[in-house]
This record gives sequence, C-alpha cells and structure tokens, in this order.
Amino acid sequence: AISARLLDVSKHYGRPGSSEVVALSHVALDVERGEFTAVMGPSGSGKSTLMHCLAGLDRPTSGRVVIAERDITDLGDTELTILRRRDIGFIFQAFNLIPTLTAAENIELPFRLDGRRPDGEERAWITHLTQVLGLSDRLGHRPNELSGGQQQRVAIARALATRPQLVIADEPTGNLDSRTATEVQHLLRAAATDFGQTIVMVTHDPIAASIADRIVFLADGRIVRQERGLDPAAVS
Ligand code: ADP
Ligand code: ADP
Repeated sequence: AISARLLDVSKHYGRPGSSEVVALSHVALDVERGEFTAVMGPSGSGKSTLMHCLAGLDRPTSGRVVIAERDITDLGDTELTILRRRDIGFIFQAFNLIPTLTAAENIELPFRLDGRRPDGEERAWITHLTQVLGLSDRLGHRPNELSGGQQQRVAIARALATRPQLVIADEPTGNLDSRTATEVQHLLRAAATDFGQTIVMVTHDPIAASIADRIVFLADGRIVRQERGLDPAAVS
C-alpha cells in the first residue's frame, strides 16, 4: 500500500478577486499506508476538492501532494494518468461509467486500460465483488439500464477490481440502501485491514465514518478536528 500526503495545500477556483472561491486553505493531511481515513464536513467545505487533489485529478493552487513518497505536484498529465491507473481507485460522486460499455466491461476497464485481462484469481475477486454488491444479474446491462444505486455499485466494483493501493471514495454509499451501504463499508474496511490498502472516504454518515481508523472534519476548506474512529476489531 502507499501513503498519501497533503502539505499545506490550498485550492482556489475562479479569478483572484470577486469571483474567487477558496475551496481548500492550508490543509495538511497525512494518511499512512493501510490506514482508513473518513472525511466529513458540510456541503461546500472542500471534501471533493480534497479528494481530487489527493488522487491527482486536480492541481492545488499552492502546497504539495505526495503519493507513495513521491511528490506528484508537478507531474505532467501523462505521468499522473499512469500513476492513477496503476495505484489509485477512485469512486466518483457522479459514477463516471462509460455509457457504451456493459456493467461487466466497465468493471474490467482498469485491466483493459492496463493492456491486459484479469487472471483467474482476479476474475474470482471480481465475481465475489459483484455478488456482494448484488450485481450478478446486471452485468450485461449498460449504465442507462441501471438504477442510480446499481450504477454506484458498478463504480465501486470498478474502483476495487484491481485492488489498488490507494482508494479514494467520494460518498461511495450516498445512493445505496442501508444493507448495501453496510456491505460497501465492510468491503472498504477489509481492503484496509486484510489487504493493507489505503482508504480515504468522504461520508455524511457518522456510522459509516466510525468504521474508519480516523475521522477528519473539514469546514470552510480547513481541517478543524480529527478523531479516532472505532477500533476496527470491534467492527468485524
Ligand atoms: P464539498 O465536497 O465539501 O461539498 P467542494 O470541494 O465540492 O465541497 O467545494 C468546495 C468549494 O469550492 C465550494 O464553495 C464550491 O462551490 C467550490 N467549487 C468546487 N469546485 C469548483 C469549481 N470547479 N469551480 C468553482 N468553484 C468550485
Ligand atoms: P435502486 O434500488 O437501485 O434505486 P430503482 O428503484 O431505481 O433501484 O430501480 C429498480 C429497478 O429498475 C432496477 O432493478 C433497475 O435495474 C431498473 N431500472 C432503473 N432504471 C432503469 C432504466 N433507466 N432502464 C431500465 N431499467 C431501469
């Protein structure tokens, strides 16, 4: 697994002056390898921006982003894309599925982008994921034939399919019924505990957040508080 670090990161949108929005202001965050961190905070507090910066999808206005001991702040787009494909699973708030591909093809996309197909063990893991997520009978459907909750589950399966070392999940359970949400929380908890993956998850649900090792609270683009989550052993 890899660590993720934000060093004094600020992110401004718009032009300096009247239209400028400060989405993140001098944020320092240090996520250790294999650690499960939950991020909470009101709407507009900068959670999505923080996740995008951590995943190399968005560039900070100032400060540094370090992934796996490597400063990625000044990497070019090509290098960032390679890093993301190799090491990072991102569960977007807007699922970002490819409309022309079936659910199964969307889930296997990370392998295709890596120029290969899942091997036997990986295929067994994907089958397990799709069963746990209740997608087994939807694998041949395209996104527009799936409900919002089903699309979200496909996005989760896709993000976890390659067992990426860093999983960035922006409200992964927002559209799910409580039973499926619980399954997703267990998948993420097991990813950290059993496979040493590093997880950063935005959630509005205090119970979901409590399964994390640590909860980080954002307000107005700043980290205002940090708490320990539940002892992971108490969850399983
Ligand atoms: P959260 O995820 O906590 O709701 P965001 O990171 O989405 O917060 O947004 C933080 C602030 O940055 C908000 O004021 C939002 O309106 C603003 N913002 C986010 N993305 C953009 C953008 N692309 N352009 C301009 N402002 C943005
Ligand atoms: P969910 O519990 O995930 O929110 P919905 O109530 O939205 O599910 O959908 C119920 C069923 O209808 C789902 O099994 C889904 O496959 C199907 N469905 C939803 N939207 C569409 C659509 N646009 N086209 C075809 N089938 C759909």
